[in-house]
Order: sequence, then C-alpha cells, then structure tokens
Amino acid sequence: MSHVFPRHSRTPPRTALRGEGAYLYDAEGRAYLDGSGGAAVSCLGHSDADVIKAVQDQAARMAYAHTSFFTSEPAEELADLLIANAPEGIERVYYVSGGSEAVEAALKLARQYMLETGQPERSRFIARRQSYHGNTLAALATGGNAWRKEPFAPLMIDTSHIAPCYAYREQQDGESAENYGRRAADELEAELQRVGPETVIGFVAEPVVGATLGAVPPAPGYFKRIREICDRHGVLLILDEVMCGMGRTGTLFACEREGVRPDIVTIAKGLGAGYQPIGATLCSGAIYDAIRDGSGFFQHGHTYIGHPVACAAALAVLRKLTEGGLTRRSAELGEALDAKLRAAFGQHPHIGDIRGRGMFRGLEIVEDRETKEPFDPARGVNKAVKKAAMEAGLLCYPMGGTIDGKRGDHVLLAPPFILDDAQLDELVEKLGTAFRAVLE
Ligand code: PMP
Repeated sequence: MSHVFPRHSRTPPRTALRGEGAYLYDAEGRAYLDGSGGAAVSCLGHSDADVIKAVQDQAARMAYAHTSFFTSEPAEELADLLIANAPEGIERVYYVSGGSEAVEAALKLARQYMLETGQPERSRFIARRQSYHGNTLAALATGGNAWRKEPFAPLMIDTSHIAPCYAYREQQDGESAENYGRRAADELEAELQRVGPETVIGFVAEPVVGATLGAVPPAPGYFKRIREICDRHGVLLILDEVMCGMGRTGTLFACEREGVRPDIVTIAKGLGAGYQPIGATLCSGAIYDAIRDGSGFFQHGHTYIGHPVACAAALAVLRKLTEGGLTRRSAELGEALDAKLRAAFGQHPHIGDIRGRGMFRGLEIVEDRETKEPFDPARGVNKAVKKAAMEAGLLCYPMGGTIDGKRGDHVLLAPPFILDDAQLDELVEKLGTAFRAVLE
C-alpha cells in the first residue's frame, strides 16, 4: 500500500520511472510524449545534460547556505541574467520555491510598498474571474476560480474580480478586437470606481491565461489600457507569468508582446524547467527603493529562498532560453504546431477554438461549434480526454467544464521547446486519437 497522499484518492497514479528528451516512461515501460511539459514546466525536456551537470556541480560544491547569512554565486548570476532580459523598469529578483510562493510574495511586497509610501488605506486587490494564481490562501483569494475557493472563503484576503479578456466567448459580433480589448480593460476602471481606487493595492493578471482558460492571449491593446488605468489611480500592475513566462509564449517574458511595463512579475515553472523547484518575484526599482529607504526589510521569507542548487539549475536553463536560442525556438515551433493543429482540428465539429502563442496552445472543446455550447460538465469531457491521451501515450493538460459554469472544456498544450517535426506530428496524431475516443 502506498503511503503517499495522492492528488485523487480514487485513482492512484502510475509510477513515472525515467525521462528522456520529450518522453517520460512509467514503471511498466510505457512511453508518454510530454505534450504539456507536466503543467507547462518541462521546457527543456527530461534529460538536459547541461542542467543536470549544473545541479550536480552545485550540489557537490555547496548545496545550501541560508539567505539570512549569505548570498551565493548562482543566486547572483541568475538575478543578473534575469534582469538583463527583464521588461524595462524591473530591477530586483526575490527568490522563492514555486508559483504560489511567487504570487504570495508579490502580494505582500505590493502591500508593504503601499505602507512604506504612506498609503495604508490600500488593502485590496482586483483580479479576474476564471483565473488561477496558486493554491496558498492569498494566491487562492486572488484567483477567480470559484470552486477552488469556496471551502476556504472565510479565511482569505479581500479581492474582487473583473471579466477575463477572452475573445472567443466575450467579443461581440461585429466588435473589433481593439474595441473588445478596450471594453474588457475598462471593467477595471469601473471596478476601481465601485470599490474606491484609493483602497486598491494592485491589479493581478496573467498576460496569456494558462490553466483556467487554456492559452488565451489578450486582445490587442488590452494591457496598454490596463496600464493606463493603473497609472491613473496609483495601482500596481502585477503580472503572473508563472505559467506563460520563461519563453513559453515565444518571448522570454510573455508581457514583452504587450508593450507594457509591469511593477511586479512572478515566474516559476519553466524557470527551473522541472530540474529544481524554483520561482521568483521580480519588482521595479521604485518598489525596491521604497523598501530600502523605508524599513529596509521586506517582511517575508522562507527557509529555501535563493537555494543555490535551484538557482544553479535555473541559471543553466535561462542560458539556454536566452543565449542558447530556445525562446526563439519556442516561437518558431509554436507556429508549426499551430499550423498542424489547425490542419487536423480546424474543422472538427467539437473543437470551437484553437489559440495560443509559442509552445503554449489551447483547444476549446464544445458540444456545438456554431453556438459554442459547452458539453455538460457532468460528462467530464476534459478528464476523459486526459485519460484517453495517456492511453495513446500522450500527456496533455485538459481542464474546465466546471469553472464558474461559464465555459467549455479545453486542452492545454505546453510541450518542451526541443521537439522535432516528427514529434510535433506525433503529438497532433495522438491528440486526435484521444479526441476520437472521447468525442465521437
Ligand atoms: N500562477 C499561475 C498562473 C499558475 O499557472 C500556477 C500553477 N498552475 C500558479 C500560479 C501556482 O504555481 P505552483 O503550483 O508552482 O505553486
């Protein structure tokens, strides 16, 4: 009997034994093409020799030094390379061990910034419905994912939510993409007026929405308008790039394409590429300076922040994404994947939308293509697709059906940036096998 507390008690998982390139192998020797990088994590595949060596070398040299005593070479070098490639104005890196921790740190950092700058009345956040920002209490509160939150609601911080920018379901007939983007962003102005802008710390959003909607990019101009509204009211713009960052969408930071300057950006997943658990909260010089010149101390911290082995792994990953050209490869491969998905499923009676950027693609599954009517959540279509895909030897990341009763199921694809053309075909073919098993 297993003593591990599994995710789902009624369906014990298979045992993963080893990984090689874009494949994972289970204890029975079955191979799975990793079409989702786990949950958009394994951007370099499973046996990257350079990252493995960086981990081994750092573990042998010095595994751990607590940050209340020391910084370390890998932590410093990684921060330098992140900042050299970060959006304009972003100047400091606060390390954590994963995505939820990155969001928690972002929320506390934003709150402390308001205290340091004499704005204690700012105590709440605005985020978007159908969003996910992590499973710790404040991150969960920030997300707009009703079913995940309900059991814990009385314990959580004060956040309100506007609509996500989700053209497939929200853009009206005859409305241009730009007008839709402006209309969606203007919900932030309306919500600020409703709650009182002087009470709001920040607005939190994913530039390209991952798990909850399935690789949904924003409408053109949406984030520019959001930035204007934030500036007008002294509200911080906090972008959650835990899933969509680190080259996933074809640029190192997903927000590069939007031409906006965030105040805080969170990253994780692809930063360690699965070789080590690591995340980071990056902030502007203005935020850092306010704390340095104020109390001088960010009132936060965990035992494993800036873990040298995790930083060494992430440094090796980041070098590959930047100097190694793998972010560019994500952009190019993503276009090829998109073309193949459209050729295979563009006319599929139950695929309503194919979208995404780089190696971050989503397919929305609907009962009726014309009306966009989703399948009855009771049918559990997304779970069935995940199971059928695994049977066919493919890992993909389906979600949905039940999120706020508002949308259909979707499949999220986030493969490693190292696939070859034959593996792109294999991915699409196996996905087709899973769709045939479930949807026909
Ligand atoms: N933010 C986003 C956008 C995410 O997708 C996730 C994880 N799916 C998180 C935060 C939380 O990250 P973690 O699971 O590493 O805590």
